[in-house]
Amino acid sequence: MEEFRQPGEVKLFFPYAETHFKFRLPWSPLHKRWPEIFLDAPCQVLSGKPFSVYLLIKDADLYPVTIRSLELRLEDVHGNVTEQQFELNLHCEQNLMYRAFPLSREGFSGTLRLSGWITVADKKGKSVRFLSHNFPGLHSRPLEIRLLNHPLPYPENWKAGEMHCHSEFSSDPVEFGAPLRLMQETADAVGLDFVLCTDHSYDFYYHRYSYLDSIEPEGNFREYRNQAIALNSEHPDLPTLIPGEEVSCGNSHGENVHLLVFGHDHFLPGLGDGGRRGFQNHPDLTIAEILERLPGIPTFAAHPKAQIGWLERKIFRRGEWRQEDLKSNIIQGLQFWNGNLGLDYREGKTFWIKQLLKGQRILPIAANDAHGDFNQNIGVKLPLVSLKQQRSHVFGKVRTVVPCASRDIGALRSAFLGECCVCTDGPFVNVSRKGHLLEVEARSNPDFGSLHSVHVYVAESGACLEKVYDDWSFAKDSMELKATLPSPKSGYVRAEVVTRNGNRALCSALFVN
Ligand SMILES: [Zn+2]
Ligand SMILES: [Zn+2]
Repeated sequence: MEEFRQPGEVKLFFPYAETHFKFRLPWSPLHKRWPEIFLDAPCQVLSGKPFSVYLLIKDADLYPVTIRSLELRLEDVHGNVTEQQFELNLHCEQNLMYRAFPLSREGFSGTLRLSGWITVADKKGKSVRFLSHNFPGLHSRPLEIRLLNHPLPYPENWKAGEMHCHSEFSSDPVEFGAPLRLMQETADAVGLDFVLCTDHSYDFYYHRYSYLDSIEPEGNFREYRNQAIALNSEHPDLPTLIPGEEVSCGNSHGENVHLLVFGHDHFLPGLGDGGRRGFQNHPDLTIAEILERLPGIPTFAAHPKAQIGWLERKIFRRGEWRQEDLKSNIIQGLQFWNGNLGLDYREGKTFWIKQLLKGQRILPIAANDAHGDFNQNIGVKLPLVSLKQQRSHVFGKVRTVVPCASRDIGALRSAFLGECCVCTDGPFVNVSRKGHLLEVEARSNPDFGSLHSVHVYVAESGACLEKVYDDWSFAKDSMELKATLPSPKSGYVRAEVVTRNGNRALCSALFVN
């Protein structure tokens, strides 16, 4: 029997929050006759990288305003402060607009706290002033930007990517994403080499600037793809944008699950849980039918064990990835690290290990499912009623790193068809073959803290549980481990590292036979 959560435990959450949709009701406490106006900036910045704070304005086509001014205050933990004032008189009448304000890290260290007072007037001249955002019912707090001082601790010729995020092409009654260009710039600041953009299949059926108006999805997808490819050729020095898709398709129980597709040419249909067909929420195509259309393209189960509330199950017919779904469908990875280390991570990781024990060579994938959300994630918690903000599910914070010599889409695609990658929110760990031996390698840097522990796990063929094969704990200030181990006769080994700051990484399983 299906287990439903109690009504008190609603698990819906939709970021960048769209607050104007009233679901045909006359009133919603979230609804105001103003556009959504807010600031966003990268959560961390690599040394030497340019970065900006963005002022975003959404739905000014419905509620035109003039942004009069922006007063920025930057402060670090040591009490260093700068203030800047911008007289803007920016007339906003478009659906999605933004302005970038370049920032400098000079004179600051540690974490930068950024507060911005925004003064806005509506058409009648009524003026309001607010801090950071005008989302109703949420207190304002400063954006926080971590200034990193050290190069990221990955070996040469490995490339780091955000594997699940949404651009402005994901736009619907409860959420929207950021322009592709801002995603590319922010990816550079936070230290990524590529971004797999995974806009919702169900959103491509609607115009991104008026999310109830239908549009031909193939053409809409083409426009999205062309924009990403054009940005890549205009800015070859910036991270590669890979136009992919988060496809809603049917699992073995006829429920909607999400499949991440790594850079394909043609739109893949999937309206199932888009919420704009009323209770017609059956999946359009099954997982197998989608995979048939994707020879040679890596695919990953998105948030395979997401905690789904009863409302989401009922209204959207959403379900989770199950054992039966992996039996006949060959996908490359499970994205069980989805921006946090909660129950969905733990259950997803157990699900991954279960596949490894069956001999399935499947990659672990880490990503954030950010909709914009460069600095924090402000989203609709319960449609019509409430919003929530959190500092997880933030763009680029957890990432997947693969061995790959170039940032080229083709090369990255081949890398994900391989058997090796690392999931991390800071350090690096890997197990590789060295002749007849195995080499374990772990590395961190002072930004993420010295090594705390490294564990290597083993499961010989036929084992029903993993065992610890070897482990290390470290004296203070150890930044690196290189060790060799004898190879087991069969099965696989894999490794995990934790640093003293609580950052962590885990690598894919190395099968020895
Ligand atoms: Zn999803
Ligand atoms: Zn998503």
